[in-house]
Amino acid sequence: MSAKSSAVTGANIDRSAALFDRAAGVIPGGVNSPVRAFSAVGGTPRFISEASGYRLTDADGNTYVDLVSSWGPMILGHAHPAVVEAVGAAAQTGLSFGAPTAAEIELAEEIIGRVDPVERVRLVNSGTEATMSAVRLARGFTGRGKIIKFSGCYHGHVDALLADAGSGVATLGLPTSPGVTGAQAQDTIVLPYNDIEAVRAAFAAHEDIAAVITEAAAGNMGAVPPKDGFNAALKQLTAAHGALLIIDEVMTGFRVSPSGWHGIDGVSGDLYTFGKVMSGGLPAAAFGGRADVMNHLAPLGPVYQAGTLSGNPVAVAAGLATLRTADAGVYAALDANAHRLGDLISEALTTASVAHQVQYAGNLVSVFFTDGPAPSNYQQVKGTQTWRFAPFFHALLDRGVYAPPSAFEAWFVSAALDEDAFSQIADALPAAAAAAAAAVDPSAATN
Ligand SMILES: *Cc1c(COP(=O)(O)O)cnc(C)c1O
Repeated sequence: MSAKSSAVTGANIDRSAALFDRAAGVIPGGVNSPVRAFSAVGGTPRFISEASGYRLTDADGNTYVDLVSSWGPMILGHAHPAVVEAVGAAAQTGLSFGAPTAAEIELAEEIIGRVDPVERVRLVNSGTEATMSAVRLARGFTGRGKIIKFSGCYHGHVDALLADAGSGVATLGLPTSPGVTGAQAQDTIVLPYNDIEAVRAAFAAHEDIAAVITEAAAGNMGAVPPKDGFNAALKQLTAAHGALLIIDEVMTGFRVSPSGWHGIDGVSGDLYTFGKVMSGGLPAAAFGGRADVMNHLAPLGPVYQAGTLSGNPVAVAAGLATLRTADAGVYAALDANAHRLGDLISEALTTASVAHQVQYAGNLVSVFFTDGPAPSNYQQVKGTQTWRFAPFFHALLDRGVYAPPSAFEAWFVSAALDEDAFSQIADALPAAAAAAAAAVDPSAATN
């Protein structure tokens, strides 16, 4: 990986570079979440000083069209006035009470009103906490130990769920993580995504399966939608074997439709996890589902789960304002913008004769460099020409377009992208496509 961040457009990134150096002296790798370090693409991560609408501004004053949207939450664009106002009003009346509030009920009601199978909700502080809690609850409810997860799906950095995970774990090529003990991993059965026969075989081989956890549509190995009937078959198999289906909608929830992926395929999970969009960019997340299962949680039941800042009033205000502002027009814009982006990428790559597949999962978009069909599991994703991604990414970044800094991540549009944003993207793409075309396979023999 060459640290090739020389801005062809002449952009100055001295301040970001200095901040990255300084950060590395106090924060491991200079970042608070690994993908931000640009390890997979090389170069200097941009330190962001402010954002508004579709536009990010870095510490050197360069601006970018944002196609990451804080990894999903910012469907309305950055610093949306309705959200900022709600956050300010909530902050004025106190930052945290450690006691229940009326607004928490409203957010729970909003989630339950949108996602039919969800009858009870508990708020937590991150998607990781949501999946960790859902897995514990599933084990407590069923009295069983084993969990099935799929390769390339990411459910946060929960010990038992890191095995063969997507997102940063994929970017760094880790099978799991040191620090996860054999005991923590041994109850996790990892299967290929979209392979229902593997799930059937696992249920035949093990009696002790508490739950299957799956991303509603995989977005952490790039966008890889479930095959027709896959989620429905998971529901049928889990029900037939007395296990629970945990549908992780942390990424898809309230982004791909008003009711998330559930609004697209209609499959009902027993438990759900949410995050990202539902807290509008502040740290909050949730898990929920069937009342009889959720009522096993303390204080009603024996499964313990708690949080000092859970239901934080400022985060709840940001989430409620985001969801209430996200009307049908916002969802139509997200869908249209995702397809407009995908079409532009595809046109540019086709013109430059770069073999590729643009794949969607709802309005999540990914570009895979491949001569073959679009990938349907992690093995196939890893088999694509991921070495074309870094030059493609840097050519976009140098021209003011901020794509996710990893071939294993989906691209996230916002409803704030306008004609100006799309013309900047269209202007940047030909050079990016040329850079992808010129990329050299590092595994090819040199002699
Ligand atoms: C982002 C994500 C998580 C983890 O959420 P954090 O808030 O980062 O802990 C879990 N599951 C999925 C599907 C995600 O995309």
